[in-house]
Amino acid sequence: MNYTNSPIQQVTFNKQKYFIKRDDLLNSDFSGNKARKFYYYLINDFPNIKKVVSFGSSQSNAMYSLSVLCKLKNWQFDYYVDHTASFLKENPVGNYKYAIKNGMNIIEGSLPDFFDNETLFISEGGAVVEASFGVEILANEIKSWVDKNSIKNLKIFLPSGTGTTALYLQKFLPFEVLTCACVGDESYLKKQFEELEKDNFPTIVQKEKKYHFGKLYKEFYDIHNELLKQTNIEFDLLYDSLGWLCFENYLKQLEKKDDMTFLYIHQGGIIGNESMLDRYKYKYHLI
Ligand SMILES: *Cc1c(COP(=O)(O)O)cnc(C)c1O
Repeated sequence: MNYTNSPIQQVTFNKQKYFIKRDDLLNSDFSGNKARKFYYYLINDFPNIKKVVSFGSSQSNAMYSLSVLCKLKNWQFDYYVDHTASFLKENPVGNYKYAIKNGMNIIEGSLPDFFDNETLFISEGGAVVEASFGVEILANEIKSWVDKNSIKNLKIFLPSGTGTTALYLQKFLPFEVLTCACVGDESYLKKQFEELEKDNFPTIVQKEKKYHFGKLYKEFYDIHNELLKQTNIEFDLLYDSLGWLCFENYLKQLEKKDDMTFLYIHQGGIIGNESMLDRYKYKYHLI
């Protein structure tokens, strides 16, 4: 099966030309930046490991991707959450639904204090050094594309959660990598970078206003639909909507952009849209 080498596609959005790295198309089950971040675990052998333990929200994209990984590797998967909403337990949707189908054990409560040597612990969102392995492959795919097509003045944009993907992309690429903080503020994101690397950080583009992660915003829904209409590509509602708002705003303020090339990294997460779209339709009475 193929888990690397996604295509790069040209689109026009609001009259601006962009290239899109389609990591959402890597593989139907294991895709997006989580496939890159967990690639190290996928292709290496871990003869002692029987179980993966992780934690985070009960709708997380990382949770779903770990459930796929564990199924492929025949590992038990214990996932710790603070709380799962009762409506979700009664009507499973999106990442939660498919992770349960893949055999995930969801556990409400705090993580164990101790892990034996048959257990692999992966921190929330896959913010681990091992993620650099798969992100370097992504960087090399971008470099080959640049060489092959003689791309000049490349700017790369991708929205951040933990910032792990943007951080390692910048580490392995000689082009400017731009990002925005979808979880927390700019100083939180910088702290996340500092957990993994000393310097050479991506550029953090400022947001126009404060957004709370996971909350619904009409402008997120609108740009999602506009992107779908104009490019025929479905983007994620949690990260990409804010990502595109920030990227467009950054471009507006940019001089001499005519000789620049813009590449947006599509990091997957489409399964998560199932529950987000339900919430948007309910909130804005769209049904
Ligand atoms: C997880 C995720 C992100 C954030 O990735 P980080 O490496 O944590 O910054 C962005 N977009 C999508 C669609 C994701 O699933």
